[in-house]
Amino acid sequence: ASRDGCPLDKVALGRATWGLLHTMAAFYEDNPSDNQKRDMKTFLEVLSRVYPCEHCAKDFRKDLKEHPAQVNSQYEFSQWLCKFHNRVNVKLGKTQFDCSKVNERWRDGWLDGSCD
Ligand code: FAD
Repeated sequence: ASRDGCPLDKVALGRATWGLLHTMAAFYEDNPSDNQKRDMKTFLEVLSRVYPCEHCAKDFRKDLKEHPAQVNSQYEFSQWLCKFHNRVNVKLGKTQFDCSKVNERWRDGWLDGSCD
């Protein structure tokens, strides 16, 4: 576990990084330009090289090769990212997230109003 004001451990770093990535996907363009698509792919590739957890980054690079990022629309990218995160969840023995709920979780807030 980690505490506010202390260096991030693997768990806190992961949580923060997923927050950034899913929020980037939540606000990604519906109709991205070629530049925007290229930037997102480049961002992920570079992140997978510099991510400061070595064994995580190694698996990240392997996964990106096997499942290239799909960045043609907000829907496509957020679904691809959800599936990628689920593959990490499987590896760590965590529960699978229902990818039909990804925009509720990361963009719109839960339908029951719990994020208002
Ligand atoms: P997290 O997995 O951090 O998820 C945060 C929140 O995202 C959850 O509470 C849930 O609301 C939501 N969520 C969960 N799954 C999904 C999904 N599929 N789609 C959308 N939203 C979802 N840790 C290791 O120990 N070993 C590793 O090899 C490793 N590799 C990692 C690779 C990457 C690229 C990243 C970003 C993190 C990695 N981590 C790794 C960290 C690990 O994935 C978790 O972030 C960490 O264990 C904290 O888990 P958590 O249970 O708080 O939820």
